[in-house]
Amino acid sequence: MEVVIGKFAGFCPGVSYAVRKANQSVMENKTIYCLGELVHNQQVVNKLKAKGMITVEDIEQVPDGATILFRSHGVAQAIYERAKEKNLKIIDLTCGRVRAVQKKVEKEKEKAFIIILGKKNHPEVIGEKGFAGENSFVIETQKDMLDAYQEYKKTNFEKVYVVAQTTFSNNNFDELVKQIKKSFTGADIIVDKTICEATENRQKEMQEMAEVFHTMIIIGGKNSANTKALVEIAKQKCKNVYHIQTAEDLKNIDFTGIETVGIMAGASTPREIILSVKNRLICH
Ligand code: SF4
Repeated sequence: MEVVIGKFAGFCPGVSYAVRKANQSVMENKTIYCLGELVHNQQVVNKLKAKGMITVEDIEQVPDGATILFRSHGVAQAIYERAKEKNLKIIDLTCGRVRAVQKKVEKEKEKAFIIILGKKNHPEVIGEKGFAGENSFVIETQKDMLDAYQEYKKTNFEKVYVVAQTTFSNNNFDELVKQIKKSFTGADIIVDKTICEATENRQKEMQEMAEVFHTMIIIGGKNSANTKALVEIAKQKCKNVYHIQTAEDLKNIDFTGIETVGIMAGASTPREIILSVKNRLICH
């Protein structure tokens, strides 16, 4: 059986930096509080936990004066302010590309109604919405279009500024932008495709691989937005797509007679997990 790993499978530069810095920081500081899971990968999180990292869901759970780590997804402006009030030492690992989106919406919020295309409950989007202020709306699917338009009509803005979650699906982005242009009649619509290059490359490669491999194995957390986007893309071209988290999950798949398998992995999947999946497939 031929098994090929995608060139862009696994850690993106933002996650890679965050994991490296988090490991370094946890060695230098006795205890670090991480606001939300550092990455959507249980193995990585567990290793850091063993070294002294405590994951909390709310900044109020962090003792005053402690060290807090902001992960690559970034946080809302209000969280920076609260951290300051609590006299926390901040290790800010917000990815530079996410930070750029935060800055753009912060700059535009006085001049435009801001639309963020992304998953409403995703931490990156929650953070960006925080910077975009109250005259903003998150569109996740076409169903949100009418609500977004009604919110826009409550404002006096002519301009609509559209950005995206950095890991949003390229195809969904293009489709939703088409709908916005149809629905927001009379508005001056500025589209800023803030999907990150690492995501675009991975999604493009995913599409190419799905066209040629009999079976696609996609590795990543079940709650990882970028992995789910990869699964959606793969299913459009390939009939045999499996979303797994570790090599262990392969035991539920029947590979009898399969000649070609492609492996792709989301941005939070470490190299060692990708290689263990490949090895398990080869030994099959
Ligand atoms: S996907 Fe892109 S924007 Fe998001 S953390 Fe990775 S490099 Fe940064």
